[in-house]
Amino acid sequence: MNIHEYQAKEILRALGVPIPAGEVATTADEAEAIARRIGSQVVVKAQVHAGGRGKAGGVKLAKTPEEAREKAAAILGMQIKGLVVQKVLVTAASDIASEAYVGIILDRATRKPVFMVSPAGGIDIEEVAATTPEKILKLPIDTRYGLQPYQAMRLGFFLYDDLAKARAASKIMGQLYTAFMQSGCSLAEINPLIVDTAGNVVALDAKMGIDDNELDRRPAIAALRDETAEEPSEVAARNANLTFIKLDGNVGCCVNGAGLAMATMDLVKYYGGDPANFLDIGGSSNPEKVVNALRIITSDPNVKCILFNIFGGITRTDDVANGIVTATRQNPLKVPIVIRLTGTNEEIAMKILSENGFAASSDMDEAVQKAVALATGGKAA
Ligand code: GDP
Ligand code: MN
Repeated sequence: MNIHEYQAKEILRALGVPIPAGEVATTADEAEAIARRIGSQVVVKAQVHAGGRGKAGGVKLAKTPEEAREKAAAILGMQIKGLVVQKVLVTAASDIASEAYVGIILDRATRKPVFMVSPAGGIDIEEVAATTPEKILKLPIDTRYGLQPYQAMRLGFFLYDDLAKARAASKIMGQLYTAFMQSGCSLAEINPLIVDTAGNVVALDAKMGIDDNELDRRPAIAALRDETAEEPSEVAARNANLTFIKLDGNVGCCVNGAGLAMATMDLVKYYGGDPANFLDIGGSSNPEKVVNALRIITSDPNVKCILFNIFGGITRTDDVANGIVTATRQNPLKVPIVIRLTGTNEEIAMKILSENGFAASSDMDEAVQKAVALATGGKAA
């Protein structure tokens, strides 16, 4: 789950991170009123779950409250990476002397939170990593001991030669680490961490990604979810207890088990196609899940073919077959469907499907090739 910049900033501010004053607005009027309260130049910032808002025109300086109203009016309703801006953060503007990057990610290789810091902040950290990797310091943290003061100072000195600034930065590293651990983050980022013209080290942007599995025991964090800012199909899938991630391709995948779902996407790619989604209907026997899954997959206009790949273990393939029949009766399909199923109750499933006019096979390779051919009109390699 992603949270908004203003929410991440509230968490960090509560831990002591220096952050310019700001408030959220949903209308241009509110934005003007906030700018008036702040009483200085402000920055109006789109609150969407996407990076690169600055480049997309979603971060704008306003010298007066009237200008804040105009900038908010322009940003509210605009689209950034397909997401409509519904809120803006109006925050006191800073005079920037330098921009640095500070981030913590959960690293699978070391199984630790890893600090990544760079004095070359502000822009894409991926670009810095690709072109000047020596400008990034990576430091894994042992969670048994937490961030040690010497590590925090090392991070601080990687950003600034000056002792006072390095100290200020190292304090912020500790606060960011606390936020990361307390909130169940998989990512926490301050980009840019700036030095302003008065020499203060200040966080101008904040981003946090929360591990969904951490939400049950953190109701206060879970309450930060903003469904209006999320991909509608992913919201629908979550409410139906399906694990679903929208992708850009045209083969709609409906699979049971995360591993098989990954393997299916790999095979779709292997045969020259592109998956429209990751979808794991889970291990339970429930035709309703298939009905919900098909509704979500078919609501994506990019989908040109639907591929079912079911390995019946705990999942009974006859339940899946019944789900397919029920769903397509309710909502006749507009695109072809390719069904592969094998395992528990396979014969019954095949019978149900053939009686209802569906072809099905038990061969995964064959099914994926067929689905790719149908989705691409035979143009794939
Ligand atoms: P992002 O593009 O989504 O990462 O949004 P940011 O909040 O990081 O803003 C992008 C860029 O806008 C920053 O790197 C700064 O260069 C600039 N910016 C943001 N806030 C301020 C501010 O208060 N003053 C000035 N001068 N520039 C700012
Ligand atoms: Mn940023």
